[in-house]
Amino acid sequence: MDIPVSTQEAWSRLKTRLARSPFRSRFRLGPRELSYYASRGEETLRRHGEDFVRKRLAPAFPEKDGKQTPMRGHPVFTAQHATATCCRSCLMKWHGIPKGAPLTEKEIRYIVEMILAWIREQAG
Ligand SMILES: [Zn+2]
Repeated sequence: MDIPVSTQEAWSRLKTRLARSPFRSRFRLGPRELSYYASRGEETLRRHGEDFVRKRLAPAFPEKDGKQTPMRGHPVFTAQHATATCCRSCLMKWHGIPKGAPLTEKEIRYIVEMILAWIREQAG
């Protein structure tokens, strides 16, 4: 997280890595999630994403870490599994964000941007 890269660049790198993971690449937005995105718009999903990340991931030791992100129920949850931003172990393994410390504002912004980039791409 030390080298400053643009969101676009970070997303493009991440996308390449995610594509090599059969587990990560199997996630898709279904018709209901896509229509939720279409009707609510990106700014709403950004707010929800930021809210989920702050509550469920940002503390140094999040509650139920590893199980805090449901598999379905909101486009952001799906995006979190698809982008490996679902729990602190995945954040460490895939994004190099250390466990045991609260997320920084910069890390929160990065995570939210990766989630939105994935959703945007799904909506095509
Ligand atoms: Zn995870």
